Amino acid sequence: MKKIILANPRGFCAGVDRAINIVEKSLEKYGAPVYVRHEVVHNKYVVDELKDRGAIFIEEIKDVPEGAILVYSAHGVPLSVRKEAEEKNLTMIFDATCPLVSKVHVELKNLHRNQYEIIMIGHKGHPEVEGTMGQVDGGIYLIENENDVDSLPIAREAEKVAVVTQTTLSVDETKSIIAKLKDSYPNLRLPKNEDICYATQNRQDAVKEMAKVCDSIIVIGSKTSSNSNRLKELAENLGVRSYLIDFDYEIQCDWLDGVSIVGLTAGASAPEVLVEGVIKKLQSYGFSSTETLNVVEEHMVFALPSGLRT
Ligand code: SF4
Repeated sequence: MKKIILANPRGFCAGVDRAINIVEKSLEKYGAPVYVRHEVVHNKYVVDELKDRGAIFIEEIKDVPEGAILVYSAHGVPLSVRKEAEEKNLTMIFDATCPLVSKVHVELKNLHRNQYEIIMIGHKGHPEVEGTMGQVDGGIYLIENENDVDSLPIAREAEKVAVVTQTTLSVDETKSIIAKLKDSYPNLRLPKNEDICYATQNRQDAVKEMAKVCDSIIVIGSKTSSNSNRLKELAENLGVRSYLIDFDYEIQCDWLDGVSIVGLTAGASAPEVLVEGVIKKLQSYGFSSTETLNVVEEHMVFALPSGLRT
């Protein structure tokens, strides 16, 4: 019998839940429109739903009119963006930056204050990376892979050199980059607590378990979602054919040729309603039984900003 194995945990993390809630509660409290700097989370369905309810997504603060309500996305913003927004006459600014991203910002600012040269591991152009690097005015260098370590302009014998990472990277890849950094910089200071967040780690752990038993793995998430892309890559690196889709109608029947067990997971910004849609679609292809693979229970919840608590 053809079977679906559902990853647990999957889908929304506490930071995404909080960020979406902030936009929804701002709309309820102040009415439309509410301006949001960048997609509040990287998911097409979520963004389209919020647009329908009156959210306007912008990239530049200059596009926010005086008197408006503004929300920063879950990825965080550079200090320059905060400054520009604060200089405008806005009614209210809500910060939907995930607290785990803010934690990296605090760590980074402390390091900078203590004259550390900082290496950031992350993906160039990702808004979280821009937001994190933009917490300090220089002295920070971005690397994306092990090869980049060789071209860092920091002396090997530097005494004050530290590393921070984007929160949604591949756990295994980041470990090997950090191992190379440690070899190159004997005085390298590591983050006190892992910067890669609990949700990224748990969803990757679940894919590792699914890969042991599935013929193919479908990841629900948008192409812009870093953590969703990492799930697909991880499955492929483990030798399992994998697909990243936003919606059920993207599934092509030849993807399921010869597949008896299909794994299903969702990135941290993909809502459960999309998972339900994919399950129905897979059922129509004969995957009549569904089993959940429980890897870890998550109980993380982040509080809303005081102005939006009920
Ligand atoms: S994926 Fe991690 S860092 Fe990003 S919003 Fe979720 S909990 Fe926060």
